[in-house]
Amino acid sequence: MKIVDEIKLDFDDILLVPARSLAASRKEVDLKRNFKFFHSPKEWHGLPVVAANMDTTGTFNMGYALAKHEAITCLHKHNNSDRTVEYFKHYNIESSVWASIGMNQEDLNSLYVVRDGIHSDPNICIDIANGYTDRFVEWCAKVRSEFPDSIIMAGNVCTPEMVQELVLHGGVDVVKIGIGPGSACTTRLKTGVGYPQLSAIIECSHAAHGLKSSEGRMGLVCADGGCRVPADVCKAFAANADFVMLGGMLAGTDECEGDWEYDISDDGKEIKTHMSFYGMSSEKAQDKYNGGMNSYVASEGRTKIIPYKGSADSVMSDIKGGLRSCCAYVGATCLKDLPKCAKAIKVNRTHFDKSI
Ligand code: 5GP
Repeated sequence: MKIVDEIKLDFDDILLVPARSLAASRKEVDLKRNFKFFHSPKEWHGLPVVAANMDTTGTFNMGYALAKHEAITCLHKHNNSDRTVEYFKHYNIESSVWASIGMNQEDLNSLYVVRDGIHSDPNICIDIANGYTDRFVEWCAKVRSEFPDSIIMAGNVCTPEMVQELVLHGGVDVVKIGIGPGSACTTRLKTGVGYPQLSAIIECSHAAHGLKSSEGRMGLVCADGGCRVPADVCKAFAANADFVMLGGMLAGTDECEGDWEYDISDDGKEIKTHMSFYGMSSEKAQDKYNGGMNSYVASEGRTKIIPYKGSADSVMSDIKGGLRSCCAYVGATCLKDLPKCAKAIKVNRTHFDKSI
């Protein structure tokens, strides 16, 4: 085995350093981004935070709640396509709510139903656990040829050469980065495979941004997994992520679907206390959608019990507050400038235990 000597970093291995600046107040920091894409002719404007296409978080209600922040929700692929069409027709929020598929014809057929129903190309998230196969690149290229106008996000991978491969030969606009960092993921425990997420974002965004289309549009990346607190979202953007995808941080909000636990209040009402949040490769998800696990694979997901957090709106406000303050501390007037202004130091511990 070959060993790479350089130590790769995760969110907990660094802190961002404040810098003297003439930057505007926190209130005036602009968190919205405008993106053009390597393949899709569309332009996108909004807050580049994305709800994960897990069946707990990628829900219609999440889509509606996050659209108010101009953020994105990738609907989970098990949503009924006729209901998806009705939803799009009713709310008209296609730039904020994207459809998801895996790597099979059945998923693609559902996408045709949605396209035919709304009479336009939906934006698409193509999600599989391991994006490192020729078959996946060919599959992405096929989806691109069927949906030439859609913004296509696809992954997951965690190294620069595969990012370039997916953009150049897979027709992908936004490559999803993250192997093993997810809060409900056990890939690193079961397989020993993974890449510290902060380094993966830095190295993959560098590769994507270095690619230029004939119209001068660059490849983009979405950092997917491992953000547990607003500070991690700040660090992901500082590391040059164009989009940041969240599962666990949005789990436990009112907009999630799944198994809730309740208490009974004094006046006899049910009050949410906890919800069960599980990985899409977990035994629970496989039982639910695929009639059980295949005998030749290990479950690479687990179930976590998450305390009730209130509305997705409150989680988003917390993240936006953290991002604005982060930009102000490092002297950036807008999210776009955060990577340019950010300097990070390697640390042994990022914070003390605040529980005592
Ligand atoms: P989180 O924000 O919860 O840390 O990470 C969310 C991401 O974890 C998802 O977007 C997806 O990429 C990944 N993920 C979801 N379920 C599973 C799973 O069962 N196994 C693995 N390896 N990753 C998962």
